[in-house]
Amino acid sequence: MNTLEHILTNFSDQSIPILENTLPIQSYVPLDLSADNTELKDFDITDPESCQSYIDNILKSKAGKVAYGGYLEVRNLYKDKSGFNQNFGEPRNIHLGIDYWATEGTEVFTPLNGVVHSFKNNSNVGDYGPTIILEHSLEDFVFYTLYGHLSLESLVGLSIGKKFEAKSVLATLGNPEINVNYAPHLHFQIIKDLQGSRGDYPGVCSKQQLDFYRNNCIDPNLLLKIR
Ligand SMILES: [Zn+2]
Repeated sequence: MNTLEHILTNFSDQSIPILENTLPIQSYVPLDLSADNTELKDFDITDPESCQSYIDNILKSKAGKVAYGGYLEVRNLYKDKSGFNQNFGEPRNIHLGIDYWATEGTEVFTPLNGVVHSFKNNSNVGDYGPTIILEHSLEDFVFYTLYGHLSLESLVGLSIGKKFEAKSVLATLGNPEINVNYAPHLHFQIIKDLQGSRGDYPGVCSKQQLDFYRNNCIDPNLLLKIR
């Protein structure tokens, strides 16, 4: 049986860059923001400046330009944000997309042909800030890609149904004031079923919800092949 996972895996045998060409894939460095990373104990990663200084250290030590990672990573990044702490049950702290940590204003490309499904400025602290969701069709599958923590300008001139060719500029990265209160980065997530959401979709889940979300939000690296 053909699955979306299979189709995305076989879409290309090359890496698919989704940040501007000035940042070649060779300059990407894996980043571990998991709660298990003992290096983070000296940093308050919930603070954008402190998080940025940790990322800058990693990039400097590896001579890289973009730090990336985070799919299914269990993080402390959301501990200070009220929307992520449940009164009952477990916190939402398992990350469902890939993050690309790069400078404000960096251009974001679409990996595939798509049309705008929806867009929204999710402006609560700790949320995505400006967000775009594209709809894609490959073979018999319709699915979605979500781009979060964008600049406000990224939403100007957008309309539902607007077409984007693969490898065209979709957006630019926002700053902590706009994105909302994170070091600049792109949150990229693949979603099979948006469950009626528009311009927003959970980017983290709790341990109890993981079975559902890991199936609904498959590993973006199947498509992107960063390494
Ligand atoms: Zn993210």
